[in-house]
Amino acid sequence: MSEVRVRFAPSPTGYLHIGGLRTALYNYLFARKEQGTFVLRIEDTDRTRFVEGAIENLIQSLQWAGVDYDEGVFVEDGEIVQKGEYGPYIQSQRLDIYKKYVDQLIEQGDAYYCFCSKDRLDKVREEQKIKGQIPKYDGLCRGIPIEEAKKRIEEGEEYVVRLKLPHNKDITFHDAVRGNITINTDEIDDQVLMKSDGFPTYHMAVVVDDHLMKITHIVRGEEWLSSTPKHIMLYEAFGWEKPEYVHLPAVLNQDRKKLSKRQGDVSVEDFKERGYLPEGLINYLALVGWSSDDNEEILSMDQLIEKFTFDRVSKAGGIFDKHKLDWVNAHYIKEYPTERLTELAIPYLDKAGLFPASSAKGHMNWLNTLIETVKDSLSRLEEVPDKTAFIFGDLEITEDEALEVLKGEQVPELLDALEEELNSVESIDMEYAKGLMKKIQKKTGIKGKNLYMPTRAAISGNIHGPELQNIIYLLGKKKMLKRIERVREILKEA
Ligand code: GLU
Repeated sequence: MSEVRVRFAPSPTGYLHIGGLRTALYNYLFARKEQGTFVLRIEDTDRTRFVEGAIENLIQSLQWAGVDYDEGVFVEDGEIVQKGEYGPYIQSQRLDIYKKYVDQLIEQGDAYYCFCSKDRLDKVREEQKIKGQIPKYDGLCRGIPIEEAKKRIEEGEEYVVRLKLPHNKDITFHDAVRGNITINTDEIDDQVLMKSDGFPTYHMAVVVDDHLMKITHIVRGEEWLSSTPKHIMLYEAFGWEKPEYVHLPAVLNQDRKKLSKRQGDVSVEDFKERGYLPEGLINYLALVGWSSDDNEEILSMDQLIEKFTFDRVSKAGGIFDKHKLDWVNAHYIKEYPTERLTELAIPYLDKAGLFPASSAKGHMNWLNTLIETVKDSLSRLEEVPDKTAFIFGDLEITEDEALEVLKGEQVPELLDALEEELNSVESIDMEYAKGLMKKIQKKTGIKGKNLYMPTRAAISGNIHGPELQNIIYLLGKKKMLKRIERVREILKEA
């Protein structure tokens, strides 16, 4: 087989949908596994949907996710650049190429000029609907002789170019996920190939580009499955070799509907903002519609590349399960080096008004300990403010059990000893925090549960939680003393 070449071909409509990222990922995994080439092409022929800055956004999201490609459109120093020998890779820069091929189809008699107005087309559709027929173009302009059509164009009449489909012909193609598919041409419209603004439609551009860019496998969402027969007809009209098709199942919501913006987060940017790690999101997305042969679920990018095959892509839509995503992401959070996690967590602390990012530099040890302390309880970085609130805020005793523990008869002595000990030092470092409980034990003779439980309850408000020494270090002398004072008040009131 010739060298594998695949492409991801998004339209720049504003953001990268999570389903789009999965399509890009499967292309990437296949390309890497087969040591092929992965191309990023921008399909911007629908000018009504173009959004400023969307190309840059798309590329940033792919980069963030670690889905890199070899050829096509890149951003360097804030500028869009293109690399590769089959460019340009932005469709709006290839209009003359499409025109050439549209002209060829007209010459061959495989396409025709159509002058029907929107009003007429609407009327035809309306009538077909009333008669219970499939609404499609009725072919009025199919028979206009080419010379007459050219004359009308010269006279300034508006036109589009349509594909001239043969009547009642079965079109069969093979899809790696769905097997052989046959559709009769009578069920398909004479597709518009070139619009009145001179831009090609998606169908025309995609076929010309995939051919000229030597794409061997078309890996895309199943919403394009029904367009594939039109593409096959174009390959046949041109006499071009057809690529392999791999249509991926849709990414669905819990209620089995297509994941859409109305139901919350769908853009890669949204997931990044909520504090999913690229490793977690990618690992989880790979599992939406595909599974490894040993059913292993935690898989790094390298493992995914090793294990990925199209024959394990499922036909059924993949349900996007946020709980499972959280579970996978939590795994990667636990595995991340704390320093890196801290860097990522600082903006969340800043935004919540807990710790200004501008003063982070001088407090990295403290911040690293803070994140280390709560790391195992996180499934997303956006949870950092909540999980660390017990360090930042005032003491809050939320559990009855903690209050019970603090009512123990040894507690007043324990609190006094803690206070005295803390007052004897200037400040608390980690070394001191580690040794503090031993000192109190020596001083008071209180030990075990009677020592640790009330101390934990007094300084954190809970009887369960992270390492006590971490809490002591993170609170520091002043806050510890303040909390001891507060516990005395609470006990008096209770
Ligand atoms: N531009 C199409 C999209 O936005 C690409 C479809 C294809 O891959 O052929 O999804």
